[in-house]
Amino acid sequence: MDSVAFQDAVMTGLATDGGLLLPERLPDVRDRLSAWRDLSYSELAFEVIRLFATDIPDADLRTLVDKSYDSFRHPEVSPSVAVGDLYILELFHGPTLAFKDVALQLLGNLFAYILEQRGGCLNILGATSGDTGSAAIHGVRGKKNINIFVMHPAGRTSPIQEQQMTSVLDENVFNLAVEGTFDDCQSIMKTTFADLPFKQMHSLGAVNSVNWARVLAQMVYYFYATFDVQKRSGAAAVRFSVPTGNFGDILAGYLAQQMGLPIEQLVLATNENDILTRFFHTGVYGKAAVVPSISPSMDIQVASNFERYLFYQMDQDGDRVRAAMKQFSQEGRLEISVDESGVVDPLFIAGRGATAETLEVIKRYEEQFDYLLDPHTAVGVWVAEQHPASVPTICLATAHPAKFTQTMEQAIDRSVHHPILDALDGVPTRCDSIANDRDLVQQYLVEHI
Ligand SMILES: *Cc1c(COP(=O)(O)O)cnc(C)c1O
Repeated sequence: MDSVAFQDAVMTGLATDGGLLLPERLPDVRDRLSAWRDLSYSELAFEVIRLFATDIPDADLRTLVDKSYDSFRHPEVSPSVAVGDLYILELFHGPTLAFKDVALQLLGNLFAYILEQRGGCLNILGATSGDTGSAAIHGVRGKKNINIFVMHPAGRTSPIQEQQMTSVLDENVFNLAVEGTFDDCQSIMKTTFADLPFKQMHSLGAVNSVNWARVLAQMVYYFYATFDVQKRSGAAAVRFSVPTGNFGDILAGYLAQQMGLPIEQLVLATNENDILTRFFHTGVYGKAAVVPSISPSMDIQVASNFERYLFYQMDQDGDRVRAAMKQFSQEGRLEISVDESGVVDPLFIAGRGATAETLEVIKRYEEQFDYLLDPHTAVGVWVAEQHPASVPTICLATAHPAKFTQTMEQAIDRSVHHPILDALDGVPTRCDSIANDRDLVQQYLVEHI
């Protein structure tokens, strides 16, 4: 694979060989950490992103970053709140109340900026297990020369998640309810992107975390939260607990660690769909059937960013990664060697929290601390609790609990509200149903572009 400039990486999504893009080299930022400690979120985002976005002039990048984080309802963008023995990193203060906004507000503005410079148009094809879709739609709704097509698994997102997407009636927004699972949607997306003539003819772009800019934007809050918690606790290092589906969010933490941020441990938390937990326990990455859970944004058995991690795990040997991914696509399984003690990677602790654990944690945090965890965040808290550490633990809160009303009611016997979501009640929606079939989806695209 040849090298690709940052703007091209943003526009192209997947590499031309079907693989995922990564920076050629990760900068070592240890000598900058002290200068970055007291920056605001936007200032820090600018400093981190400019290390990679080398083909965007500083003044333009600053404007893009400021504009992206102005849409957040909290002045700190992503505050860390002390709750019991943990810090909860609230990533849900963006327009659609999930952590996806942090990257997708920026990505939407990057798309618009690059199209302004270069001309042309972009047709975004995305797949969502619930939160990416609405965040991506809100990132580009009404933007000139951009259409967005979002596939979600019919009936498998929460009703509110569906409403957040389908209630956006801008002409450039198309919602597709696919008769299948999220993995089916993601597979239609990936094979459509792999069809290069189709992709080029229709100027397709990606908003899923296969897009490098998303992972990059997510690195910022690991830096921001580490500095904040270091200042408040006096600790030299921290650890993060991350509820995981596609390995996108936690990959950002991994890369920040590789760049020199003092992260002592990454707690990888899955629900019943635990392919990643099994991998970190055994070295075997083996596909299983997707089980619907109460943390639906993590109901994933093929984690699209996992191959980016494999690249580092396999000593940055692209050929080995390609061979492993090929084996996985043929056999649904790949295996890496583990050391004598059976440890795949000492940086990661993995665990799973299923329905009972998730509900128990939500109830306990409400009773003890009067703090509401959403079901995804609760999985991360549960797994962190199972593995106590000597450094402060920062649990990523990936969504606002009001997005998952039914589960919250089940856990704490009352409903949870947010004015943004209450305002969706009864508004008109627009969505088309479609079979789980790549050709039909491609035909739909061609007809609506
Ligand atoms: C997307 C999502 C996750 C999983 O993030 P990945 O990057 O796919 O690992 C977890 N929680 C919520 C609320 C999400 O929307």
